[in-house]
Amino acid sequence: MIDLALVHHPVTDKRGDLVTTSVTNIDLHDIARSCRVFGVETFWVVTPVDAMHLLTERIIRHWREGWGLNYNPGRGEALKTIRLARSLEEVIASYAEGQRPRVVATSARPQGSLSIEQIDDIARQERLLVVFGTGNGLAPAALDKCDAILPPIQGMDEYNHLSVRSAVAIYLYELAQARRAASGK
Ligand code: SAM
Repeated sequence: MIDLALVHHPVTDKRGDLVTTSVTNIDLHDIARSCRVFGVETFWVVTPVDAMHLLTERIIRHWREGWGLNYNPGRGEALKTIRLARSLEEVIASYAEGQRPRVVATSARPQGSLSIEQIDDIARQERLLVVFGTGNGLAPAALDKCDAILPPIQGMDEYNHLSVRSAVAIYLYELAQARRAASGK
């Protein structure tokens, strides 16, 4: 079982300062669709800002109950994966005793410790929470909450700073491929 968290605080800006980023409509839609396609159970949107919770709830309502439901029912189906939390600690604490997920972070900076195949093995035996940052990446305070870090997605040279939406889709596709290879499908 795989869950995913998009963290808006604590993350860093390009100077390395600790910041809180805004939730964006495009992140919600694109990442929710990737989650729905690749079988992620819960897409955690993590922000301490109340106004961002209200914005996210309003966007979800629009596509699940409002005009959006008639215009494009599939979009509400994807947005159904979203749950809100104020911190990564709150996400981790929300799991029942004995159900705590293995928390793995992602970053473009090479510091990864587990391969996709190892991560997939974990996901088949226990719940996995894959954590993505925003801004210029997860702050050390967020990385400290994680049990491991996935190796970065490598491009053709040293430039590998993807949008978080692209990184999510690539990792979830790789995990799905690893699962297919393991099950021989
Ligand atoms: N320099 C930042 C970093 O090191 O991750 C780029 C931040 S990027 C705009 C936002 C998020 O997308 C990152 O926190 C990470 O979760 C993900 N991401 C971006 N590029 C990635 C890559 N090449 N490998 C793994 N994750 C990546």
